[in-house]
Amino acid sequence: MAPDVARTRMLAAATPLQGAEAMPLVQASGRTLAEDVTALRTQPPFAASAMDGYAVRAADLTSLMPLHVIGEAKAGHPFGGTVGPMEAVRIFTGAPVPDGADAILIQENAQGVGAGVITPTQTEQAGRFVRPAGLDFCTGDCLLKAGTVLDAWHIGLAASMGHGLLSVRSRPRVAILSTGDELAMPGSALREGQIVSSNAFALAAFVESRGGVADDRGIVPDDADTTRRAIANAAEGCDLIVTSGGASVGDHDFVQAALVANGFSISFWKIAVRPGKPLMFGVRGSTLCLGLPGNPVSSMICAILFLEPLLRKLLGQPNPDTDRSEGALLGRALPANDLREEYMRASLGRDDAGNLVATPFSSQDSSIQRLMASADALLIRPAHAPAAEAGTPCRIIRL
Ligand code: AMP
Ligand code: MG
Repeated sequence: MAPDVARTRMLAAATPLQGAEAMPLVQASGRTLAEDVTALRTQPPFAASAMDGYAVRAADLTSLMPLHVIGEAKAGHPFGGTVGPMEAVRIFTGAPVPDGADAILIQENAQGVGAGVITPTQTEQAGRFVRPAGLDFCTGDCLLKAGTVLDAWHIGLAASMGHGLLSVRSRPRVAILSTGDELAMPGSALREGQIVSSNAFALAAFVESRGGVADDRGIVPDDADTTRRAIANAAEGCDLIVTSGGASVGDHDFVQAALVANGFSISFWKIAVRPGKPLMFGVRGSTLCLGLPGNPVSSMICAILFLEPLLRKLLGQPNPDTDRSEGALLGRALPANDLREEYMRASLGRDDAGNLVATPFSSQDSSIQRLMASADALLIRPAHAPAAEAGTPCRIIRL
């Protein structure tokens, strides 16, 4: 099955979680809005000066005759009176523009700054350097949409709109299972034939950074009963199970059978992608299971291609399958590709003309984490792509 077909099928089987929680602004960063957010106030609430200078009546400037300074307005300290003919009020950025005034004469265009009388050296149009009330937004404006992933500027806007709490989507709970007799925890003494289990740490970080809550359920030995029980336990109280390893057709691959024994229906298994062929997706009611390959690089690339859009869907973010790829030029010649879409670890640079150039590493072994960690991007080789010379346009996904 082609990866995009598999992804479409997976996303169709997932529905956004309905839970939401009220989150103080200081804790809302990275969370997904559960509801549209409407302004509770108008910004700015009054016509405000955009510059330091004098609040004036623009019509009074045409003669360039002296104006009497009748008071002062600072940010937070409005001038209470009204500006009459041939009068001015000393004003500073952010202060309300006093009644009667309709423009700001910036101090650079006034002679006698600081004195009781100033002389304009230039005329101005009405409205010049005045920020009208509601320039940014007005009460009732809907400015943030449900599904927005809250970044700093969204949170600042929400604060200005008068909100102290935002309704955000509950985080999907993701149980992570690492299968393999050969696996040992980092820091433990390795017996002959053992390796450190690294996938769970990478996957937990991936889940947490993309809005989920990771629940590491530890190492599951290659044994049918144990795997079945581990899946049964993990399925309680989580929205998504992510397994690593044990998804191939080897005599010691038990994940698929364990899912079936626990009532999951297997939506797909094996996709035409490299690395990561043994990818599996199963569904039992609202509980989902994504079975990732065991090779560390394969599991990461499948997380990028499948786990990330799945989390986006569960979080109610718009267009979970949005194409993040961008154009670049090939940094070296590549042979023709076979029927599997390939994601090659690559470095990025610029050629003399400033074009983005993606150069795939010479080794693409899916066990080599060092190269994954030093890659700038994944270079996408479509299935059946013909041989390509250096300089050929290609698509990449930045890491
Ligand atoms: P599998 O998909 O179970 O056949 O595993 C493929 C390869 O990935 C094997 O070399 C495993 O030792 C390795 N592997 C499996 N699980 C992990 C893990 N959690 N951390 C690191 N490597 C793993
Ligand atoms: Mg294994």
